[in-house]
Amino acid sequence: MTCGDGPGLSRDYRVVIRQADFDPDEALTIVEACLAWEATVPGLSLTPSIGQCEGYRERVICVGKQANLPEPHVAETWRTPLVDGAVVYIEPGWVDLSVASHEIGHGMGLHHDAPGTIMCADVTCAAGEPTPDDAMQWYRVRGIIPDAD
Ligand SMILES: [Zn+2]
Repeated sequence: MTCGDGPGLSRDYRVVIRQADFDPDEALTIVEACLAWEATVPGLSLTPSIGQCEGYRERVICVGKQANLPEPHVAETWRTPLVDGAVVYIEPGWVDLSVASHEIGHGMGLHHDAPGTIMCADVTCAAGEPTPDDAMQWYRVRGIIPDAD
């Protein structure tokens, strides 16, 4: 679940990839997800790093790995109304561009959206990476009207 829609949502997050949880290839996949979001959403800045994180921090999306998430989830993102930050868990074996991008989307306050977007609810309907419709949701939940170009 996600909360905290509105102008309080940032345009600028640090994405901390927990070093203890991911191998270098997986960490690179999460970095690629950050770059894919930035390429799709002008005005968004995601700064990935590999390190340690725990719990909710302002403008930090903390990405970790956790086995045996409740079915049918392959990943989960948690937010609180009190802080514009998130905690993401991805199951072993599911660290791919689509899943990482989807969860980072939740981390930025996005909700599930139509088939063919990265924010579609599950891996069978989600795009492989963020789409222009996802960018529209990103602007919409921030109360930003996107530029015509
Ligand atoms: Zn989701």
